[in-house]
Amino acid sequence: MANKEEKLSYREVIRMNNRAWKIWHKMCPKLFLATTLHSAFAALSPYLTIWLSAQIINELAGKRNPDTLMKLVLIQLISAAVLALLTGILQHWKIYEEDTASQMENKIYIDKMLTLDYIDMDSQHSFDLYSQMRQNRDWAGWGIHKTIRFFGESLKAILQIVGAIGLSVSLFTTKVPAGEKLVVLNNPLFIIAIFALMLFVALISPFCVSKGKAYWTNYASEARLGNRYFSFYGGMSSERKRAVDLRIYSQQENVCNFYLDENNNTLSSNSSMCKSARGPMGLWIALSQVTSVVLIGVVYLFVCLKAWAGAFGVGSVTQYVGAITSLFLGVSQLLQTVGMMKVNCEFLKTSYEFLDIPNKMYQGSLTTEKRADRKYEIEFKDVSFCYPGSDTYALHHVNMKFRIGRRLAVVGMNGSGKTTFIKLLCRLYDPTEGQILLNGIDIRKYKYDDYMDIFSIVFQDFQLFSMPLGENVACSSKYDAQRVIKCLNDAGFSERLKEMPDGLETYLYKELNEKGVEISGGEAQKIAIARALFKDAPFIILDEPTAALDPIAEAEIYSKFNDIAGDKTAIYISHRLSSCKFCDEIAVFDNGAVIQQGTHEDLIADKDGKYYELWNAQAQYYTENKE
Ligand code: ADP
Repeated sequence: MANKEEKLSYREVIRMNNRAWKIWHKMCPKLFLATTLHSAFAALSPYLTIWLSAQIINELAGKRNPDTLMKLVLIQLISAAVLALLTGILQHWKIYEEDTASQMENKIYIDKMLTLDYIDMDSQHSFDLYSQMRQNRDWAGWGIHKTIRFFGESLKAILQIVGAIGLSVSLFTTKVPAGEKLVVLNNPLFIIAIFALMLFVALISPFCVSKGKAYWTNYASEARLGNRYFSFYGGMSSERKRAVDLRIYSQQENVCNFYLDENNNTLSSNSSMCKSARGPMGLWIALSQVTSVVLIGVVYLFVCLKAWAGAFGVGSVTQYVGAITSLFLGVSQLLQTVGMMKVNCEFLKTSYEFLDIPNKMYQGSLTTEKRADRKYEIEFKDVSFCYPGSDTYALHHVNMKFRIGRRLAVVGMNGSGKTTFIKLLCRLYDPTEGQILLNGIDIRKYKYDDYMDIFSIVFQDFQLFSMPLGENVACSSKYDAQRVIKCLNDAGFSERLKEMPDGLETYLYKELNEKGVEISGGEAQKIAIARALFKDAPFIILDEPTAALDPIAEAEIYSKFNDIAGDKTAIYISHRLSSCKFCDEIAVFDNGAVIQQGTHEDLIADKDGKYYELWNAQAQYYTENKE
């Protein structure tokens, strides 16, 4: 469960963070300018205040010249006000840029998801990587998200160190006057000892913090699992489709118990993660604080003793204490940030593994050219296919030709390979063996987008979007309204369209608009069919989008669709034979192979054939269509 951190070199840590910064820079080019300016002001401006304060105190404790004092106070006030104002403005700008970048983070993953090969999109491995990455981010911002701040934090720390060194050099170079009691403080050994102590604390303090924070990595898989449960159980109560089941089977109890269970090792205060936060994790962080306090004490002592011995005035005490404290904070902030960058790399690995999934599908360069005559002929030549990770063939030696403008039916029992056949036809997968040809050329040689342009498909599990009706049909925010209305009418949606309160502008569902309308399954199918018609592709495919309807209703929709498909080549898929009776040709699938092919009349005449057997077995469900 606890994944121990792999050792990563600092070079690798910088390389991985740099890659994330480049991603941010590409999305939000001004982010780094805002961060750099803010870091510079935030790191350096306090030193001006410290230095001026020291001058004022020295003047007060020395010559006490009213003119000089007035001038110094004025400069102090004006500079403090201007710097505070500028730092404030820059901080707002930086936060604005960070928030904008943060909002756009999803775009990184959406772009990747949309360009993944379907085979990877469909794979469990990609899904797991994606969901791990989301859960890492939702858990505590781990991954690419966390890197936004690292740049600013480390730059600020570096500048803080540089400024502090500039202000504290004279602490070591100013000597206690000869003959004074503590002249021993001039011994270079003191300088070495102070630096050694500072270095020791600067290293040990962030080391303790990193040790404490490394527990986050150790519990990564557990926390991800917790998040997975959390979103599953949390989301369940608001999902409409589960609302009835939850109530009827009193599943509320299970959901609530998940949160209330004190023995729950993922979310409760008794979880091992919480125990470690109360135990070793807390101790490491406390130890880091202790070491810092000790260092500050020692520096105070050294500075005060030197001042007491007469090396410098009381004003300089403020300057040196301020500068050394800042130096220490800068070093420890830098080391802490680098430590966090290292811890975060464990999470970045998952993000990069996902973003680096290659596109393995061969992309050809031929164009399909929109032919006015729509003469596209597709042929399956001895095609066999095995799903990735499976050792059984879902399709075996399929040979089939789609004749232009004809109606082809693909029928067979559930699981016989019909949808797989269509997925291969649309090049969502490439055949394991054999070839699919478009006008005699392997479909792999065509540009993928061009090839996709020749298909309109309504899948069984089609999805409509919570967007206006017109946009759902046209798949675009700009569309020809008359053509959309014609397609909706052709799909049988005309009556319902008249009832839509805002016509084509009416939102479907309520996710994005409270005035959105809920539509029935049958209405959704009609809209999906209208969408396929609107695309006006030469091939139109219905892959059982009507499976939820009764057989008679399905047969009606299929034969009506036959009229509106016009001169397109249409492919109908169904496990109900009656729905496809009218087709020019029927291919019967069984166990991934085409075992019969012909017209309904040919096939029904073969009394030993599968078609005859299925037809008779199903006849009882659709007596109206009975032979
Ligand atoms: P049909 O559309 O005729 O119901 P499918 O084409 O969906 O049949 O399925 C054919 C076979 O391929 C079935 O044995 C099914 O379990 C298998 N199959 C479908 N999808 C996948 C997948 N993504 N991974 C592995 N096997 C699959």
